[in-house]
Parts: sequence; structure tokens; C-alpha cells
Amino acid sequence: SLNSMEHLLEGLNEAQKSAVTSQASVLQVLAPPGSGKTKTLTARVAYLVNHERLQPWNIIVCTFTIKAAREMKERIRGLVGDGVEGKLILGTFHSVSRRFLVRYGQEIGIDKNFGIADTNDSKSAIKRIVTRNHYTTDPGQARSRISGLKAKGITAEAFVATTKKAEEHEFACLYSEYEEYLRVSKLLDYDDLLLRCVELLRKHPACVSGIQAVLIDEYQDTNNVQYELMNLMAQWRKNITIVGDPDQSIYGFRSAEIQNLHRMRAEYPNSIVINLENNYRSSACILNAAMAVIEQDESRPEKPLIATHCVGEQPTLRHLATTQVEAQWIVDEITRSRTLAAGLVGFNDYAILLRSAALSLSIERALGKAGIPYRMVGGRRFFDRAEIKIVLDYLRVINQPNHNDAVLRVINVPSRKIGEPTIKALLEESESKMIPIWSLILDCAQGRSRPRTKISSQAQKGIDEFVNLVLTSAKKLRPDNGEDCYLIDLISHILQKTKFETYLRSTHKDNWRDRWANVEELVAQATQMASTTVSDTDDALPEVEGIEQRKDTAADILSKFLANVALSTEIERPDGEEISQVTISTIHAAKGLEWPIVFIPAVYEGSIPHSRAEDHDEERRLLYVGMTRAQGVLYLSCPVKQSAQEQTKLSKFVSSQKMQRFLSMRGPPFSAPVIQDLAQILRRACPATADLEAAKTKLERLDDDFYPVNREEIDGEDSKWHMSNPNNSGLQPSKKRKYDPPV
Ligand code: ATP
Ligand code: MG
Repeated sequence: SLNSMEHLLEGLNEAQKSAVTSQASVLQVLAPPGSGKTKTLTARVAYLVNHERLQPWNIIVCTFTIKAAREMKERIRGLVGDGVEGKLILGTFHSVSRRFLVRYGQEIGIDKNFGIADTNDSKSAIKRIVTRNHYTTDPGQARSRISGLKAKGITAEAFVATTKKAEEHEFACLYSEYEEYLRVSKLLDYDDLLLRCVELLRKHPACVSGIQAVLIDEYQDTNNVQYELMNLMAQWRKNITIVGDPDQSIYGFRSAEIQNLHRMRAEYPNSIVINLENNYRSSACILNAAMAVIEQDESRPEKPLIATHCVGEQPTLRHLATTQVEAQWIVDEITRSRTLAAGLVGFNDYAILLRSAALSLSIERALGKAGIPYRMVGGRRFFDRAEIKIVLDYLRVINQPNHNDAVLRVINVPSRKIGEPTIKALLEESESKMIPIWSLILDCAQGRSRPRTKISSQAQKGIDEFVNLVLTSAKKLRPDNGEDCYLIDLISHILQKTKFETYLRSTHKDNWRDRWANVEELVAQATQMASTTVSDTDDALPEVEGIEQRKDTAADILSKFLANVALSTEIERPDGEEISQVTISTIHAAKGLEWPIVFIPAVYEGSIPHSRAEDHDEERRLLYVGMTRAQGVLYLSCPVKQSAQEQTKLSKFVSSQKMQRFLSMRGPPFSAPVIQDLAQILRRACPATADLEAAKTKLERLDDDFYPVNREEIDGEDSKWHMSNPNNSGLQPSKKRKYDPPV
């Protein structure tokens, strides 16, 4: 109806509207950050359902992160309603692939309860293969190389077949053995999820015969396998919409292929490109500074980008004495600005974006000391805590007992007096016979046959206990258990049988209470996590003729839950309610997101560009992605000293004379006028003028305390960094992107 059409297109500009309603069968929306690509893609999904009358379960939408998938669902719910968002095949490439493999994997010999080998599992498996064979390869490098080959679709067999070089022999063997290990353990690693799905859709196109439209966000970061998947998913009806931005391609190190943009245009000659030019996210000053960074790449074609917001304040670039001082400065600035803009901003509105997660330590400490709530995204996650990992490993074993790594990690935790030599011998036997450890110990415990390994009677008792625990737990998953909360049942059973609380008490004298509280939280949230957060991956697919779709059984709740853990890159503490927290994230994980106030610390050579990064263009784009997350206020900072001795050098991306015109070297960026700008950008109520006056006075007072570093001392280091800005009055937005910088 006209009404819902209006509702759908409400608040979109003309270019966005034409993208939403385009009749093109292959559509590329290419546009800079903050131009509404994701918003447009979401509206197009709603349009396809409401106006093209596609069934939601015939639409595949691929997002880059689970968080993005969740947000998109929210938006679609707002646009279409009727529970449509839950019926779409929507998720990350990995979760969509998993869904197809769970339902139809039998066609290519994949066990329904396959486990997912996460990065840790892969690493330890490779390490063991290397040690066992006395290989000289570095396990970490081998893992990324294998992943790189898989991303290109080169299987172990293909690699062995094409590589004749002697010096590659070792790596070829390693790759094959790793694959064999995954097969025996009934595991798929992240790359396999995509590769095997390609195989499935190629051999059995019927699986996607109902698919009417495929839509992809953040297309610039797809790799070759994902490109192939896209083609296969759309093989019946070539109705593809992608949105992306070449300037934001930051996953080259994980084999993303920026070439896929051109390749797509070549392979679909009738594809239509729509560009969006207005930026609705950031103030003009922030955009200018970000553009000045990306334009340092001279091979990049000129692209218009029009600021639609207020001019705002120039981003600050501050030098602090040390990393600790820098962290404290950030904390102080959060406190100060929150006081100033009382009622306008909450902790939720702040993000601290890091080049690498390792930088978070000093910042976490400072925030913790100040009592500021924060959450870590893409760093150390709730699920990575030692005590949680043990419980999860038990669940993994119960879900898929052939998961050798998980068995190894918990067979003697808490101690069952199974000695290290026994475990080692079992592992050796398992690897030489290519039989999972579980089969060996199960046969032994049930008296069917004895393993070659000699096992003391004490160890035997421990092994029997372990086998017993796994078997009794697995019973809890029988469908006839019939209860809704068997995940809780199951975890409680494990905790009780392992006397887990006592175990934590004895192994972590000082903080066992916190650890136990984490475990209790896992129990409390387990059911909800299995049913809600996994819903990206658990719905049935449209029925197709000729291929039977495997149905859910009770045990699948567990396998979905574990898949959710493995596929989430950013699930933090599974908090039920939203509390207002500062976000700490890597820049990589912040892609596609926005915050009113953003800090990017540690902007020095070796951090960004990172010392190990080969592609400095990609590093530059990374800084650009980070800066363009900010809506109203952006802070860059750099410690003068990284450690007691080590001096830092300001990142080349911001140190040029030209860049200095776009950055403000002095003065706190968060001032009274900024509050009004922010309110405008966020369309939130602005504090009354009276408050503003009060705020200004406060600001002046606070200002005096606000130079925690002895400026003389820093100015001595390199005066170029501190050239004061001749004109800090901001820039006028104009119709064209090229604002003349102040002279
Ligand atoms: P990125 O490249 O960072 O992923 P994007 O192009 O996907 O950015 P969105 O996240 O879709 O951009 O939009 C950025 C912000 O601009 C959002 O807050 C969105 O609601 C807003 N926005 C998008 N289009 C419009 C519009 N036509 N009018 C007003 N606000 C808009
Ligand atoms: Mg986006």
C-alpha cells in the first residue's frame, strides 16, 4: 500500500530511494562511510518483502558480524513487522553457511552434529602435528597459510597435487594431516564452513532453488570463497544487491579481495551501480580530517562526500607522556564531558577504538579504577575466561565426543588422577590409528577392547569416571527429557558431578568467587542464549524437492548454543539487560558502527601502521574506518613514550604538515558549543541555555587541570607535532566535498 511504501522510504534521500526500489537484477551500492549503505540495504530487504512480495525465507542477507545481523533484524522489524525479521535467512556468511550444512550436509557426508573448530582448536591441533613430526614450520604461520589457501578454495589435495617443490613437502603434509584431524574429529574450521557450503551448493543446487534474492553488506571485505558462495546462492535467480566501500577494505590480511568489486561487474555486465554522496554520520570537521587521511593514497580516485551535519569541532590530537597518562587522560575526558553534557550523553555514547586488542590493558585499568562501566568487543570475551572455557569444553565433548582437543582439555580437569604420560600415550595411539580418543576410552571403559596404552588402575578409575560423566550428561539431551531448560539441567549436572565450585575454590584461592559468579551467570543465561542469540542460525530453510531437510532434535539446542559461541566475534558478557557502558573495541570489529564520541589512542608508528603490517595502504584505511565511526567528537592521542625507554614517533598518517590543518593540537575538543552540535547530530534535546552558561564556566575551571603533561617537555621532543593551529574556527560545509582548509 501507499502508506507502507511511504513508511519504508521515509527519511531516505533520492539516491537511497532509487537503490531501495531499483529493478536492477544486480545492484552495487558503492559509497563512503556514513552515507546510509546499511540503512539502504535494510530498507531494500523490507521493500522486497512488502512490495516485490518475496517470501522472507527466500531472501538471504549476509552481514559482516553477528552484531550487525542483530541490528539489521531490529531495523527490519521496525519497517515490516509481523515477525518477518525472524524468517529471513540473515546472518554472517559463516552462520548462513552453517545453517545450510546443518540442514543438508548429509548430501556431502557431513555429520549433523559437526563441531566447529575455533581458532584455539586449530592452533593446538597444528601445534601437535608439528611437534609429533618434528616439523620446522611455525605453527602460527602454518595456520594462517592454511587459512589463506582455504580462502582461495585450494584444498589440501589440490595443494599436494600442484606443489612439487621439495621445500614445500613438509607444509603439504602438515596441511593434509590437519585436514585428516578435522575429519576424524568431525570438526569444521571457520574456512571449512564456507568451503563445504560452496561444495554443497555446487553439487546440490536444489538446496537454494527457492532463493529469490541475495543481499550483502560490507562487500569490500569478501574473499574469493565468499564471492563464490554469493554466486551459488543466487544461481537460480540472479537478484543480487551488494553495498560496500573500497576505501574501507581492511581485511586484506584475511584474504579479502577488493578485486571482487570489479570481478562482479565483469561477470554481471548488466549490473547497475548507485553512488551515495551525503554523509549523515559525522560533523564536517571530522569528515575533513578523515578524508585528509584517506586522500594520502594518491592512486585513489576522487570521490565526492558531502557533509550534511554541523561543522563541529576539529578532532584533537594530543600527546601524553606515557601510555598510563594517556589512559588516564581518556578517563578524565570521559568524566569531564559527561559532566558537561549531563543528560545528553551516557557511557553508551563513548567508544575507544584500538589498532590491536593488546592495547586495552592500561585503558581497562584506568576505567576500572574510575569505576566506569565498559565492555570489550572483539577482545578477551566472556567465553574466553578460563573457568567458562572448561564448562564449554565439557559441552563440546558431550555434543561431539570425537572432538579430541576438547577431550584433551578436560579429561583430567578437575584432576581425576590421570597422569600426563597416560594422556600423551592415548593421544599418540589416537593419532597413529586415526581413531578419536573418545572411542579408545569408551571401548576400554565398557570392557570391549583395551587400548594399546598401558593404563594404571588409578588412571583407569579416572577415565571411567570421565566416560561416565559424558554418557550420563548426554542422556540429559534425549528428546524424551522433554524439558525446556535441559541446557541448564545439563550444565548443572556437569558442575555438580565435577564438584566445580570446590575445584575453583582450591585452584584460585583469591578470586574463586568471581569465577564462580561467571559460571553461575553462564547457567542463568544459557537457555536464553541458545534460543535468542542463535536464532540467526537456527531456523529451518525453505523446503526443496528431492533433498530432505534434517530436522531439529533436542540435542540440537546444544549444538546451536556452541555454534553461537564459536561464531560470535563480539559476544561479551551475556547481559540480559542493557546497561550503559563505554565500548572498547578493535577498529576491525567496529566496522559499520557509530558512536557520538570516539577515542583512538596510540596513534604512533608501529601501532598504526602496525609494525607487522605489510600493506600500509590497508593500515591507512583502517585509521580512516576508525575516524569515520565518530559522529560528534573525535580524539586521537599518542604517548610520547611507549615504555620507560622507548620513544614513539607519531604515525605518518597524521604527522604531515597538511594533516595538522585538520587536527587541533590544543584545547579540549569537548566544549560547550560541541554540546549543541552533538545534540543536533543526535537529535536529542539540548541542555537549556542556562545550563550551557554554567557548563562554560565549569569548562574554564576544568581546563586548567587539563594538561596533565608538562608541555614544555613534549614540545622539546618534536616541535613540529605541536605547531599550534592558526585557525581553529572550523570549516564551512559547502556543496562540494573539498572544503578549503583554513590557511
Ligand atoms: P559504514 O560505511 O560505516 O557502514 P553506512 O554507509 O552503512 O556506513 P549507515 O550506518 O547506514 O551508513 O548510516 C549512517 C548513519 O546515517 C546512521 O545513523 C543512519 O541512520 C543515518 N542516515 C542514513 N541515511 C540517512 C538519511 N537519508 N537521512 C538521515 N540520516 C540518515
Ligand atoms: Mg554500514
